[in-house]
Amino acid sequence: MCGSVNDLARATLSRRGLLAGTGTAAAALAASSGPAEAAGAVPSRAPRRADGHRTQLVLLGTSGGPAYWPGTTRAGIASAVVVGDRFYLVDCGSGVLRQARSAQLGNASHDTDGPLDALRGIFLTHLHSDHVVDLNNVLTEGLYNGLHLVDRQVPIWGPGNRGAIPPLFGPPPAPPVVTPDNPTPGTREMVDLMVRTFATDYNDRAFDNRKPVPSQLFAGHDVPIPAERLADPNGDPCPRMSPVTFYEDDLVRVSATLVQHAPVFPALAFRFDTEDGSVVFSGDTGPTDNLVELAQDADVLVHEVIDREWVETLLPEPRTPAQDGLFQHLLHAHTEVTAVGAVAEAAGARTLVLSHLVPGNWPEHKWRRARAGFSGELVVGRDLDRIGVGRASRRRR
Ligand SMILES: [Zn+2]
Repeated sequence: MCGSVNDLARATLSRRGLLAGTGTAAAALAASSGPAEAAGAVPSRAPRRADGHRTQLVLLGTSGGPAYWPGTTRAGIASAVVVGDRFYLVDCGSGVLRQARSAQLGNASHDTDGPLDALRGIFLTHLHSDHVVDLNNVLTEGLYNGLHLVDRQVPIWGPGNRGAIPPLFGPPPAPPVVTPDNPTPGTREMVDLMVRTFATDYNDRAFDNRKPVPSQLFAGHDVPIPAERLADPNGDPCPRMSPVTFYEDDLVRVSATLVQHAPVFPALAFRFDTEDGSVVFSGDTGPTDNLVELAQDADVLVHEVIDREWVETLLPEPRTPAQDGLFQHLLHAHTEVTAVGAVAEAAGARTLVLSHLVPGNWPEHKWRRARAGFSGELVVGRDLDRIGVGRASRRRR
C-alpha cells in the first residue's frame, strides 16, 4: 500500500480533529469504525487446511499497509508457496518469520533448526516497507531459525533500481532527497546494504558462534524486466508487457510482469508453476492487462484489495480538486473489492484468494463483495490458511 495513505489519513483526520496526537491511519479507523466492527475483523473459523496437496499456498500475513490495524491479529503481508518439503516466501511483511514457525514450515521439531531450513527462495513484489520490513529479520535472526542449514544459497528476487525519484505529488516545495547518491536502491543493492548495516552481528555470529556468513546463505537479485519497459518510470509506470520467466529449479518455475502501483516502480506480480498447478500473486496493483495475462488459467490467484468505502471515510465529500486527485490516485494504485472479481474472471482463475486487505481490520462480510463478477471459488484470506494448488497428490509433507 502506498505510504501516502497514512499521510492522507493524518492530514484528513487532523483536519477533522479526530487524531489529537496519535497521527495514524489505524487510530483513524478505530475512531470511524468502532469496536463492534473491529471485533469482526478476524472470523472465528479455524485456518483452512490443504491435506493431500503437494503444492500449497500458505497465507502467513494478510494485512495490507504499514498501519498496525487495531482490533485484528492479522500479520503483515507475506505468503509461502510450499512444494513438498520446501517453500518459497513471497513478500516479508511484519511477523513473517514467526508466522512461518506458526505454520510449521520446515523443521518444526527442533528449537533452532527450522523453519528456514526448508527455504528455497524469497520473492519481493515491490519495495514498500509493508512488503519488506521483516526481510532483515529473516536474514539475521534466521541464523537461529534454520537459515544456517539451507542446502543451497537462497536467492532474493525483487524489483531493480527505480532509476529516478518519483514526481512530486501536490504543490512545491519538494522535500529534500534521502541519500541523494543513490535514492532508489533496488533489491540487489538493498540486500547488500542490509548486510553492511548488520555486519557487526554477522561477524559476531561467524567468529563467535561459527555460523555461515551471508554470502554462503543468500544473495539479492533484480528481476530482469526488459530494459525498454523500464525506460520511463514517471511517464509510463505500467507499460504493457508479456510475462518473463526468470527463475527455475527442480520444483518451481517463476515468472513476473509489471503491475500498476504508481508511483512505485517497478512493481511486480509473480506466477509460480509447479508439476501440480499454478499460483499467482498480484502484488499491489490496480487492474491491468499485464496481470490478467500472467494469471491466465491459474489455479489460484492471490489478489490485493482495498475498500473504496474506507478511502471515502478518509476523504469525505465534498472534496477539493486536490483532494479528489489524491482520492483517485489511491484507488488507481490498488484494486477495489467490487472490481477484483472481474479481474479474476478475465484471467479464468479457478480460486480467488483475497490478501493484503486494506483496511486490515474490516469485517469479513465487506470483503465478500468480491464475488461480484466472479464465477469461481472466493476465499477471504486469513493468516495461516492453507489452500491446495492444482491437483492433489498422495505425497504428503
Ligand atoms: Zn505498496
